[in-house]
Amino acid sequence: MKFIVKPEITVEAVLTACISNLSDVALKDEYTAKVRILKSHENILERKIRSLELHTIPQNVQISAIANETALKKLYTDKLSKKGQLAREIYDDIMILAPNEKCPYCNHRPADTLDHFLPKANFPIYSITPINLLPACTQCNKGKLGSIPTRASEHTLHPYFDNIEDIQWLECIIVQVKKIKFEFRVKHLPRTDVMLRRRMEHHFASYGLNELYKSQASSEYMNIESHLKRIFNNKGKEELREFLFEAYLSRAEVDINSWQTALYKALHDNEDFIEGKFL
Ligand SMILES: [Zn+2]
Repeated sequence: MKFIVKPEITVEAVLTACISNLSDVALKDEYTAKVRILKSHENILERKIRSLELHTIPQNVQISAIANETALKKLYTDKLSKKGQLAREIYDDIMILAPNEKCPYCNHRPADTLDHFLPKANFPIYSITPINLLPACTQCNKGKLGSIPTRASEHTLHPYFDNIEDIQWLECIIVQVKKIKFEFRVKHLPRTDVMLRRRMEHHFASYGLNELYKSQASSEYMNIESHLKRIFNNKGKEELREFLFEAYLSRAEVDINSWQTALYKALHDNEDFIEGKFL
């Protein structure tokens, strides 16, 4: 759930790069004649993302008999994503937008593929539209295949349009201190817009972020447990509290909503933990 400044390139520029070396001259002319339609659909898409109305966009829209849905998907596969093609530079330019090379949907795994926010199988008209193309990890890309919103609250966060970076929204809960167990969730923030909160929760569930983060937190905890025990046994609970606070602060400086920040905050804030009940 990371924000990315959206690419400035337009669908017209992507199309021009994709068809520059197209051998089928008739198809090339057909595309050139349909640029205005693609631009108009690009505008519609941006408007619908902003107004949370993606569910009102008709699926499988055709632009013409020749430059049809199959041909548009082929442009993505054979030109935009294919290594060695001129248009591949655009693909690579979008990939490098990934914050710290990480997937913006899960904010954990490496971004290693280009995701269609609205799947090209259902919305071929947006196969090469830049605001529909996002760097992502394979798991998030595959995990949400076919997930098309049916109402406003089912709009997962769009990294180019939803910026929640200034809210500390991720919370780690220590379910039990002895044989420690964690859960992650979207924190209840009374001043957060109700629709945004629903969408954040939907995003969190759709991408399996609780499962991902709690498994990472468990591994991290296993790696530091003996260190924490030594601090508590040799120096006492105040030293343990201080250590966890510093660990939290240094991670929060990097990202206030990483699972690491949430984990160390939860450990620091849990009085039973500080009292040594994890021993
Ligand atoms: Zn991901």
